[in-house]
Amino acid sequence: MDRKHFIQNTALTAAGLSFLPKYSFPNMNKKTSRGLQLSFEPYNLQLKHVFTLAGSSRSTTPDMQVKIRFEGVTGHGEASMPPYLGESQESVGKFLSAINLQQFTDPFRMDEILEYVDKSAPGNTAAKAAVDIALHDLTGKLMNQPWYKIWGFSAEKTPFTSFTIGIDTPEIVRQKVREAEGFKILKVKLGRENDRQMIETIREVSGIPLCVDVNQGWKDKIFALDMIHWLKEKGVQYVEQPMPKENPEDIAWLTQNSPLPIIADEAIQRLTDVQKTIGVYSGINIKLMKCTGMREAHKMVNLARANNMKVMLGCMTETSCAISAAAQLSPVVDWADLDGNLLISNDLFKGVEVINGKITLNQVPGIGIIPL
Ligand code: MG
Repeated sequence: MDRKHFIQNTALTAAGLSFLPKYSFPNMNKKTSRGLQLSFEPYNLQLKHVFTLAGSSRSTTPDMQVKIRFEGVTGHGEASMPPYLGESQESVGKFLSAINLQQFTDPFRMDEILEYVDKSAPGNTAAKAAVDIALHDLTGKLMNQPWYKIWGFSAEKTPFTSFTIGIDTPEIVRQKVREAEGFKILKVKLGRENDRQMIETIREVSGIPLCVDVNQGWKDKIFALDMIHWLKEKGVQYVEQPMPKENPEDIAWLTQNSPLPIIADEAIQRLTDVQKTIGVYSGINIKLMKCTGMREAHKMVNLARANNMKVMLGCMTETSCAISAAAQLSPVVDWADLDGNLLISNDLFKGVEVINGKITLNQVPGIGIIPL
């Protein structure tokens, strides 16, 4: 029986402990040590709609699909590289080519492995996230459990996920709102001159709760506060990155005076950035591609909670691989914006689902995905 079938059979007989000694001492019967096998392949995500933010528009997102193999078991990971974040298929390929995971013969030494990956070069957060996600998928499969269970979270506590409506003409906005039927909250991109028109157009066709993401688009704190009061009357629940991140004094003033929570997105990337958002924002938006993956994201949730901050989980346009990885953390966040897989037309996996607007975790070990 090969290792993969051994694991599946072990799961079926519920003899979970019987295989543990084997994994505690991998390679114990082998003369030559075989470590983790990393492979990767570029992929282009096709967007269903041209996506418009306060600064740019695009119809594809470059992506890298990553695998880590160990003794017949494969973990899947992914890097998504929206151009404004500075990584590319070339930079991710270069980063992944330069690291040597074969030196590691025990995938459960995740601290050691991911610290090595992080320290191998600065930046490259999406490339690092791809390795982190693949390693979590692999180790979850080896333990035969999904990560939300390994972490001890309750599946029914997942939040609703928002569906994103980009800045567009009233006709397209109405069409997108109709397509979002079934969602319980919409995320509206603002930050251009048609902000009020965007909201009023949505209110013509739907009374659904909204959140807004300004992507740093408002430059004046008085204007921003006026807008937030108006948005609250329109059924908006929170505001993401209303003003430029370079202006923490104005944002702290806005947060103090705002009737709605103010969430940091562009202002935060990694665990070490959480400290500077305390007292400035009401909460943080955590994205795997910016924070190097699930391990650091989990630490960020805990640090934010310890400082009484709200936590939101966000994403890039991604396949169900990275979305399902992030969703493993969703039972312990306030809000989720994990719709990136629903915005593309060429997904590669079946993963967590949105049922009646709510993130619905499954029982699939690892990060909860099955290749299509
Ligand atoms: Mg945002």
